[in-house]
Amino acid sequence: MNSLLIKNGLIIHADGQREENILIQNETIAAVGTELEYSSETQIIDASGKWIFPGVIDPHTHMGIPIKTGSSADTFATGSRSALHGGVTTILDFTVLEKRQSLVNSLEARKKLAGKSLCDVGLHINITRFTPEILEEIPRLISMGFSSFKVFTTYKEAGMMLSYDEIEAVARIVGAHDGVLMVHSEDNNVISAASEPFADRSKTDPRYHGLSRPPEAEAVAVRKLGEISERTTCTIYIVHLNTAAGLAETAKYPLLKVETCPHYLLLTEEVYKKEGGRMFVSSPPLRQKTDQEALWRGIQNGQIHTIGSDHCPFCLADKQAGLPFQEIPNGMGGVETLFSTLLAQFLQRGLDLSLLSRLTSRNAAEIFGLEQKGTLKAGTHADLLIVNPKSLSTVQDEALDTILDWNAYTGLPAIFPETVIRRGEMVVSEGRTQVSSLGLLLKSV
Ligand SMILES: [Zn+2]
Repeated sequence: MNSLLIKNGLIIHADGQREENILIQNETIAAVGTELEYSSETQIIDASGKWIFPGVIDPHTHMGIPIKTGSSADTFATGSRSALHGGVTTILDFTVLEKRQSLVNSLEARKKLAGKSLCDVGLHINITRFTPEILEEIPRLISMGFSSFKVFTTYKEAGMMLSYDEIEAVARIVGAHDGVLMVHSEDNNVISAASEPFADRSKTDPRYHGLSRPPEAEAVAVRKLGEISERTTCTIYIVHLNTAAGLAETAKYPLLKVETCPHYLLLTEEVYKKEGGRMFVSSPPLRQKTDQEALWRGIQNGQIHTIGSDHCPFCLADKQAGLPFQEIPNGMGGVETLFSTLLAQFLQRGLDLSLLSRLTSRNAAEIFGLEQKGTLKAGTHADLLIVNPKSLSTVQDEALDTILDWNAYTGLPAIFPETVIRRGEMVVSEGRTQVSSLGLLLKSV
């Protein structure tokens, strides 16, 4: 039996911080406490003066998803390696529903790709088509352990949108079986009206991307989804919330769970004016400073529950200069810098580190039913990070473990973990990734 003792670290639990030791046996935490018994074969890590966080759960990634002109730039293999280097031991990604495919078949196809992941991986089920057959599959998928579904209130032209009535029908079934419905919440009518002036596709400036997807689109959609959550008693999880107006709506509906992303917390629409501003095009777009500060308030007052990277990276050549703004591939990478940049921000803003622990691990585990994740206690998976509080630096491209040639967060303050342990295996040591086993496909039941 492999046995590892991490002693004298300050554990950043979801409910407070305590100096305790952690005994790991194989993949699992055997005990947490101040006086632990261990054998002479136990390997010991002295974490004096260090912080120990639960392994980060990134509830929102898109590894290698097809787009019109190819696919997002990370595969499960490359993206999960970056994830581990940044302290993310679990990613939750999405299935891709092809034309005429069943939900179960879309899951099986995606599982094959996700099997290459080095971190543990769960899959949300995308529902981008509304038929009686699809609805019938939902309870079956939940009984198979896949209980989170995602729908879109926009992307009508791409054939991905469900109407609010259709979303309500899905929510009724998902809610009745204790699942979670995730929603990309931007109202399609608001976007269509705002996009009208640019329909001729002559505009290349990325600023038009923001103008064509105004904040009201989020506020309108969130309100309608809040009402649906009340009528159906289904937990609705708003992905990538990004506006003050949208956040204000979420406060009215207790069944809504709210995710935001590092790019909305760390960047604003000002970056669109920079040389290469097109690289920052993602949907929903970046917003104003006032929105950003509202999101930070939402984090402090508990209105925001999780932070997902929405990792969907593209390389420089994927977003050529001179493309009409509508044709710039949407998305940015962020899984590797998610935790390190947020930790630096939390310190700068003097925020409670247990709040960070909840936002980056515990809350996602609770919402998505991952009972073996998110808490450092006996019986759970041994996923954890050891962080040296004195190692504040900045994001440097050459220090990242990535295949990507562009990063949105370069130069921002960051504290990367020194050591990352995923189910008992030390996958990052002294900041270097070395992984000898694959991730586990996670289920919620
Ligand atoms: Zn996304």
